[in-house]
Amino acid sequence: MKLILLGPPGVGKGTQAQLLTKEYKIPQISTGDILRGAIQKGSDLGQKANSYLSKGELVPDDIMLGLIREKLFGDVPLGGYILDGFPRTLVQAKALKTMFQENNDTLDAVLSLEADEKLILKRLSSRRTCRNCKAVYNLITKPPVVSGICDTCSGELYQRNDDKIGTIQNRIAVYKKQTEPLIDYYRAAGILIAIDSSGSPQEVHGFITSQLED
Ligand code: AMP
Repeated sequence: MKLILLGPPGVGKGTQAQLLTKEYKIPQISTGDILRGAIQKGSDLGQKANSYLSKGELVPDDIMLGLIREKLFGDVPLGGYILDGFPRTLVQAKALKTMFQENNDTLDAVLSLEADEKLILKRLSSRRTCRNCKAVYNLITKPPVVSGICDTCSGELYQRNDDKIGTIQNRIAVYKKQTEPLIDYYRAAGILIAIDSSGSPQEVHGFITSQLED
């Protein structure tokens, strides 16, 4: 199964991707995680991406397209995956469509996660991420058992730089301008499934799987 998770920052894409990974045994491909990993390593890609991430801006399309082409259609073909954070612009969505056509491949569904903006702001500012395994916590709804420590791998939990309030507001503005038009694009293509993401992670997950099975 090949899926795209679409939605504003903080709507729960990462959390749902992790649950779907377990359910369907397919990997999550998070472009945000790949970029943060590259920044941590100080690689070429990391150096190019760093200033965009710290401001909450999008990394240029040509960089993202090179990265995704290699991941999805490189030497090791992937049987299925959940794309989390890609595409984020119409240019990316159209280029992805071309890549699928060139490879005689098809996308199964685009899940559009939706929630109220106030809820999103609250979720993002209380989000903490494991530096090691990337598990996502929330200080209000899903705190770790021991403060600051990941339940799964004992890694250190941290607040992403771009989860600080000034950057969050910019990321939401960038989403509305550049990514929201993808909802209409995929609706017109007939593969969009709208998901109310205001419930608990398990409730939203249950709704997603029932929609996918339909
Ligand atoms: P995320 O973890 O998905 O919220 O992504 C964090 C940041 O990585 C975004 O705010 C962008 O700066 C960058 N990013 C991730 N995916 C993309 C993409 N598809 N296009 C451009 N920038 C991206």
